[in-house]
Amino acid sequence: MKGKIHSIDTFSTLDGPGIRTVIFMQGCALRCKYCHNPDTWAVESPDARDYEVKELMEVILKNRPYYEASGGGVTFSGGEPLLQHHFIKEIFKLCRQEKISTAYDSSLYISSQVVLDLIPFTDLVLADIKQINNEKSQLLTGAGNVLNLKNIRILNENKVRIWIRYVILPSWTDAYEDLEKTALFIRDLPQVERVDLLPYHSLGSHKWKLLDLEYQLHEVEPPSSNYLQELAQLFSSLSQRPVYLA
Ligand code: SF4
Repeated sequence: MKGKIHSIDTFSTLDGPGIRTVIFMQGCALRCKYCHNPDTWAVESPDARDYEVKELMEVILKNRPYYEASGGGVTFSGGEPLLQHHFIKEIFKLCRQEKISTAYDSSLYISSQVVLDLIPFTDLVLADIKQINNEKSQLLTGAGNVLNLKNIRILNENKVRIWIRYVILPSWTDAYEDLEKTALFIRDLPQVERVDLLPYHSLGSHKWKLLDLEYQLHEVEPPSSNYLQELAQLFSSLSQRPVYLA
């Protein structure tokens, strides 16, 4: 079995606990306006390359001493990693045998059957909530959020550890009612251990240009650090979870 992989970061400290190998999978069904990896959208891309399961495991195993020393492991990201869930399942099974911790970072805009199928081999999910409001989600990502939120609840019910990720995009995701509703949704999920607030940045906008795509957020300023601190405090008090600023 082969996986289509956009790129691999063999030393990440940002995508789950400890030092991790992060595998960025090719392909995504969403079209988030702030996406800084639009080059991962197409399922077929000259930038991606096919890896056999065995070949990727060799890459993963090279960093075993770092995982053991730091409590790290492997994280699949993207794109949308779960579009290639059969490949991920094979890798996760082997990681389990090797006692390497497994995680994926996903919008969870995917069939619930896929999420359920991976649960026995998944230690942690980094779940991206894009917008809690269904109509605003449609405008921001090109799709509603019903499936995504249902899948987070499924993970919670099945006792999977969850970290929530939420991008602060001024005037798109920072309305009080949306933050409040998101925080209260999280508060009711005992498996959510923490929330990471990620400030919007436009560093990937040049990729849109290269791909001949129209970037619509040129006018949006990244949030200031004071404003982010305020939102983090608000979010933490409403969700009753630790909130970290990335
Ligand atoms: S889900 Fe991620 S990769 Fe897909 S469009 Fe949104 S930000 Fe980009």
